[in-house]
Amino acid sequence: MYCPFCQNPDTKVIDTRISDDGHSIRRRRECPKCGRRFSTVETATLLVRKRSGNVEQFDRNKVVAGVRKACQGRPINEDDLKQLGQKVEESLRAQGIAEVPSEQVGKAILKPLRELDEVAYLRFASVYQNFEDLNDFQRAIDDLREAE
Ligand SMILES: [Zn+2]
Repeated sequence: MYCPFCQNPDTKVIDTRISDDGHSIRRRRECPKCGRRFSTVETATLLVRKRSGNVEQFDRNKVVAGVRKACQGRPINEDDLKQLGQKVEESLRAQGIAEVPSEQVGKAILKPLRELDEVAYLRFASVYQNFEDLNDFQRAIDDLREAE
């Protein structure tokens, strides 16, 4: 692995640690040339299978982009969205499978979004779950009330 500071092609691993959740390995490395240290994180690839059958790498930014529209005009900032993307990735990784269907990604968004903002949640759920009429909204609102 190249040193990110001086591009020296040879770096040395000085420490290896498994993350608390067991889903990643963190390596501390040192460059023998410039002496600087940096960390790398190794995780299993997480793939998303789209309805079309295409498989692509899971991308937090896509999660955020998908949710952003539902959050318009709500008191939600970029950090909130970033955290939401992280929570979605963590919950998918916690399932311990390498390839998840895209519907599963949508599902994983609902819970943290609900905790973040109920209006944004309703907007997102209405699109994602194909709400057809007011009754669908009413049911979702009843669920939210019950959870309070
Ligand atoms: Zn270096």
